[in-house]
Amino acid sequence: MYGALGGPRLLLRRLREVMAESISPQAQLDKIVTHIAANMVAEVCSVYVLRADGSLELYATEGLKPEAVHLTMLRSGEGLVGRIAETAEPLALADAHQHPSFLYRPETGEEIYSSFLGVPILRGGNTLGVLVVQNKARRTYSEEEVEALQTTAMLLAEMIASGQLQSLVPPGQDSALRRPLAIKGTPVADGVGLGRVVLHEPRIIVKQLISEDSKTELARLDTAIGALRDSIDRLIESGNIGPGEHRDVLETYRMFAHDRGWLRRLREAVSSGLTAEAAVERVQSDARAKLQRRTEPYLRERLHDLDDLANRLLHQLTGQDFVPEHANLPDHAIVIARTMGPAALLEYDRTKLRGLILEDGGAASHVAIVARALGIAMVGDVANIIDFVEPGDPCIIDGSTGDVHVRPPHDIEHAYAEKARLRAKRQEQYHKLRSVPAVTQDGVAVNLHMNAGLLVDLQHVEETGALSVGLFRTELQFMIAERFPRLDEQEELYRAALAMTGERPITFRTLDIGSDKVLPYMAQVQEENPALGWRAIRIGLDRPVLLRSQLRALLRAASGRPLRIMFPMVAMVEEFDRAKAMLARELLHQTRHNHLLPSKLELGVMVEVPSLLWQLDELCPKIDFLSVGSNDLIQYLFAADRDNKRVANRFDCLSTPALRALKLIVDKARLHGTDVALCGEMGGRPIEAMALLGLGYRAFSMSATAIGPIKAMTLALDLGKLETRMQEWLEDREIGVGSLRDRLLAFAREESIPL
Ligand code: PEP
Ligand code: MG
Repeated sequence: MYGALGGPRLLLRRLREVMAESISPQAQLDKIVTHIAANMVAEVCSVYVLRADGSLELYATEGLKPEAVHLTMLRSGEGLVGRIAETAEPLALADAHQHPSFLYRPETGEEIYSSFLGVPILRGGNTLGVLVVQNKARRTYSEEEVEALQTTAMLLAEMIASGQLQSLVPPGQDSALRRPLAIKGTPVADGVGLGRVVLHEPRIIVKQLISEDSKTELARLDTAIGALRDSIDRLIESGNIGPGEHRDVLETYRMFAHDRGWLRRLREAVSSGLTAEAAVERVQSDARAKLQRRTEPYLRERLHDLDDLANRLLHQLTGQDFVPEHANLPDHAIVIARTMGPAALLEYDRTKLRGLILEDGGAASHVAIVARALGIAMVGDVANIIDFVEPGDPCIIDGSTGDVHVRPPHDIEHAYAEKARLRAKRQEQYHKLRSVPAVTQDGVAVNLHMNAGLLVDLQHVEETGALSVGLFRTELQFMIAERFPRLDEQEELYRAALAMTGERPITFRTLDIGSDKVLPYMAQVQEENPALGWRAIRIGLDRPVLLRSQLRALLRAASGRPLRIMFPMVAMVEEFDRAKAMLARELLHQTRHNHLLPSKLELGVMVEVPSLLWQLDELCPKIDFLSVGSNDLIQYLFAADRDNKRVANRFDCLSTPALRALKLIVDKARLHGTDVALCGEMGGRPIEAMALLGLGYRAFSMSATAIGPIKAMTLALDLGKLETRMQEWLEDREIGVGSLRDRLLAFAREESIPL
């Protein structure tokens, strides 16, 4: 029936004209509903806008009583309109009064209208309002009419999202789109950041919604889909899959790109008068609205895949390349992305970054390593956040709790600003301690070293007053690279690192890859239990070229200087012997080629596989130092995956079995006169480091941010007193194999030790 009046295309054009007129937003809306009603030959057309409190307010109407505008209010789920907002699905009824959700509002005078067609006003899958047409006569709305009204709703979505209607929002109220949001994700990197949202991948702005000619648009759509399919096929066939892209994900894309239903919906949207890119946006918004309301993780995963696919199609159609927002970064930026590789984060100007929020990617992701190294607050696993934010929105991130606040109310903002201020003050206090030696109250010196892996980490050595880099995770360079770093690239990094730390030595750990540390460019080996599989020194010994070239790069970088190397995941003394033999060959090679050797070479082994605990008598005489990798050691002791949320915190590292194992190592090292340090996360947590001091440890290597707190704890500690207590506790049959955590905490409280 609307065809007689020019159909949806003419309507959309009219509405565009109205939107461009310089009249008040209310006058625009009033004109818009009049045009829609006329075009659709309906007696009524009304626009309801969703408010922050979830209610729907009548913003404009043609046909209902004008006095109801800004008066009629429906709660979420209330009436037909509320139902549409809740389900985000259109509703077409020949006899609306018969519907169980029908709700009569006398002020509107709608009792005389029988038929009802309502569609959600959606943007990125979120409901912003509801658009309704009504007729007196009983009639069945056709699919084309539903489609046309949905297309029209897109224009209104644009109007609402652009803030054009903001002046109609009563003071003290927000439209739903601008409401404050509090979301919780996984805490990844410590820190509190207050700033403004920057989308890592800027949204593609579809400027032209309405097509001139559907045939041309259909042809454009077909060409773009063809190109999209080809590009996915090529990616899969070439095997040249970039970081973060996995073959099975691409296979899923391929499946979707051939999905008949998806293609049909796209074509229908074009037929209703949209340009090809507006059609993609429309169909994607509908899909998001549906899938977001489902809770099955599998479907949410699919939603991401569909989003990516739709984005790729939009890139094809608009010819816009994906350019991350590295340039023009505003001050106090909180960058939000679906996923991000470590290299991409490094491209941002660190001084302007206040935080990073990812939809995918938790504490174990590679970008997390970089975020921690840079000291940027990061929260991961924040589902769908991109749909709820606009660039420039005020945002707060708390990397220690995983809390994210978008458009925070004033009191929340105030509380966090206070928190950030306190943190800064504490940092300042720690900073003052940087040249104070870490000595306990009873005069025992404790050596505090720093963990690093990237050059950006090394700036913290000076800042924190760390004695040395006690663990340099060389795999990080490999993890953030696009391909295997060549020998000269490795050498360059090690040389630069040594130059940056000057007199302070660096303990380089050879490549610790495998398990969760995957190199995207290295062929994956399928393993049932990768943590127990082919990793670290095991790979190095099986692929001697890899380990030898790394050792060569280290020797060259350190020519004429002292060098410390340690090997990860050694489970048998014999593995150390083989690695050492490899090093001997490299030393020979260096001498033959007249390269200057390191002035001193010290070799160490990480104690992180329990089997080594009973080989220390054989191992210690062969090495210069031991470094306890408590992260892995505790995971293997309790057979509890360190990255598996279900089990990671099930066993306490302050329980007697763990402490006894740790004590055994320090006792043996002392017996053999071998240096020992602990470089796992335990050493960076005050209460745990305190327990380790009580066991006899005197050296720790930890993340830069932990050095201040550990030093403050050390300075306040009467170690003799703690040692006596711990000895009693460990021998106390009553305590048995329980955790000493509460006792240690009570001790710290009694002694006023800052934790
Ligand atoms: C450890 O296992 O404790 C350790 C320091 O090594 P990583 O965390 O790199 O495995
Ligand atoms: Mg380890």
